[in-house]
Amino acid sequence: MHTAKTPLRVAISARGASRLKSGHVWVYRSDLLSADNIPAGSVVAVADERGKPLGTALYSSSSQIAIRMISHEPVSDLQQLLRRRIANAVVYRQRIVRDTNAYRLAFSEADFLPGLIVDRYNDIVSLQILTQAIDSNPVRETVISELTLQLDCASIFERVDPRVRELESLPPRASGLLHGDKTATTFTMNRVHFHFDALEGQKTGAFLDQRENYAAAAQYARGDALDVFCYQGGFALHLAPLCSRVTGVDSSRPALEVADKNAVLNHRDIEWIEGNAFDLLKDYASSHRHYDTIVIDPPAFAKTKHDLDSALRGYKELNLRALKMLRPGGVLITCSCSYHVSESDFREMLVSAALDAHRTLRLLEVRGQAKDHPVLLNVPETAYLKCLITSVS
Ligand code: SAH
Repeated sequence: MHTAKTPLRVAISARGASRLKSGHVWVYRSDLLSADNIPAGSVVAVADERGKPLGTALYSSSSQIAIRMISHEPVSDLQQLLRRRIANAVVYRQRIVRDTNAYRLAFSEADFLPGLIVDRYNDIVSLQILTQAIDSNPVRETVISELTLQLDCASIFERVDPRVRELESLPPRASGLLHGDKTATTFTMNRVHFHFDALEGQKTGAFLDQRENYAAAAQYARGDALDVFCYQGGFALHLAPLCSRVTGVDSSRPALEVADKNAVLNHRDIEWIEGNAFDLLKDYASSHRHYDTIVIDPPAFAKTKHDLDSALRGYKELNLRALKMLRPGGVLITCSCSYHVSESDFREMLVSAALDAHRTLRLLEVRGQAKDHPVLLNVPETAYLKCLITSVS
């Protein structure tokens, strides 16, 4: 019989062990040597093929990522460990986050909390559970109780991604409140105000990972500005105080409705256009429209590495058209949130677009995700956002 003191054991191949020794925290199912009869979501002791202990992990019976390490040491009390990790994540944010009451409070592996994402929107906390281990009832209770202890929040809302639950063989579950009853609030970043409604929104409510890039973009923005893939107006609202005219484009009407409410909240006059960005940029470029500032922040075009070529073609088309429309001395802020598109792929794409558009780009800033979405250097998958700011002549 297994008690907390005699943990379940999983042996992994030499390849899996060398991955862990290089600092990564995942072991793929193909590198498991023995994992028979291990219940979904167990805490397991990981050992190499000779039985040498490598630490403690959370086990998934269904994902290709079978093992996510949580400690180099034996773990006798998972709940206590998670409480400590959440408390540490809170302290880390207190040190590094400025000028906002909305930020990512826990970013899965990057906060040593594999499978748990927590975002804070002022007094509403939104969490996402990505793995079997974190989905178990005792772990959920621990997470909720530690978050309420650490934060002065009115409510905690769980946002469910049905695809994630399917991949983890978890039963379907609806998004909903786990604590409190408040579902809507406003939050502020860089002195710009936003509405948040937990019952609406596409991802986790807002793209908090762009917070520092909004402020950076605002340093260079001027004249006529176009925010392509504007969602609820994150960039557009930051550019508005500095630009003579701002237009935001998105294909989602609900997103634009919130964008418009956000403009009212900030007393800004912004034009919102509902449409397909590819078609609209094509029309605008061929009708010789010109801008001084253009932001391009599309959704992840490459969901897997197999999509890389078509993703790069998509990025190139958008950037090429934007470059053609920028006046000399204009600013292009161009982003990719696809992990599978590396920074060097993205730069190469931009060089090629610039050559085709007969423009010269000077790099003003090379940026990534905001610091509350930490990048764990030994886990490349934690770095996904690229944001290049260039001056175009
Ligand atoms: N810049 C935004 C985030 C953009 S997320 C911010 O900082 O908040 C990507 C957005 O692209 C989503 O709002 C989505 O509705 C929109 N979108 C996806 N495909 C589109 C298309 N073909 N044309 C226009 N918008 C599109």
